[in-house]
Amino acid sequence: MYRIRLHGRGGQGIKTASQILGTAAFYSGYQAQDFPLYGAERRGAPIVAFTRISEKPVLERGPISSPDIILVGDETLLDDPQAAPLCGADESTAVFINSTLETSVLQQQLHLSSSLLKLNLTELCIQHLNKGTVLSTALAAAGARLVGMITLEALLKAVDAELSQQGIGSIQENLNLTKEIFQNLFPVVLKPRKEKTISPSEIILMEQANIEEAAPIILSPGNMILRKTGNWRVQRPEIDYEHCNHCLICYARCPDGAISLGPDDKPEIDYDHCKGCLICAQECPGHFINTVREAGVES
Ligand code: SF4
Ligand code: SF4
Repeated sequence: MYRIRLHGRGGQGIKTASQILGTAAFYSGYQAQDFPLYGAERRGAPIVAFTRISEKPVLERGPISSPDIILVGDETLLDDPQAAPLCGADESTAVFINSTLETSVLQQQLHLSSSLLKLNLTELCIQHLNKGTVLSTALAAAGARLVGMITLEALLKAVDAELSQQGIGSIQENLNLTKEIFQNLFPVVLKPRKEKTISPSEIILMEQANIEEAAPIILSPGNMILRKTGNWRVQRPEIDYEHCNHCLICYARCPDGAISLGPDDKPEIDYDHCKGCLICAQECPGHFINTVREAGVES
């Protein structure tokens, strides 16, 4: 069985990528299972999705802790200890990162024992789709190529089926993107991983936890300051102070209160907490807030 784990942010199409991958495996004659895992947070929050592919029925359930392939759609997640996209990677794992950096630089920064592969998927998405924020097709194509058992024909059919089902119009552009990524990568040779069998003595019976410990509720007030959501950002808003006329619409519209008033009532963005939703850039009447792609991993 191949276990693939996909990491990205809400809104980047990571769940759809896992679905395309699963459907492409199915069209190639395999059994597949795919599902996402995310909480109540919105666009920009780290999310994870999983695809299992096997010649036999997939009976295993739950998140994948020891993946054969890890696909990282957003390299800014590498700095986020709560997202921990490389968790569980070992010498049998192949890690793929959508990055602007060279493989040698990434290897030096990450000190991985796993095989490491990279391609600038965002750039290819911009070329083919005219936007670099949705990575569903690109990440699925990278995963399908690396896993090696999925044919290009099956992958194209899966892209067409999944995107049509979601009512996405740019099918031909997505198919062209798929072909280019498929041609730019090669299947990885995965070291065999020992299948783990669980004997009855290892099964732990869980007791129902206290509601305050088990439920996803926030009990301590003011904790948002401590949670630095600035590293969820894919695009950074930058105020053009030469033209800004201090109308403060951005200050009023930021849903996270990440814009405050500085000296002379100038709007100032708190980059520790700005999630990069870019509502401020859309709302600024004079379009005086520019958007810049986050640089990614810094040494
Ligand atoms: S992008 Fe703008 S609106 Fe969104 S969180 Fe950041 S400052 Fe607020
Ligand atoms: S909305 Fe635009 S013009 Fe108004 S304060 Fe914000 S950046 Fe300046």
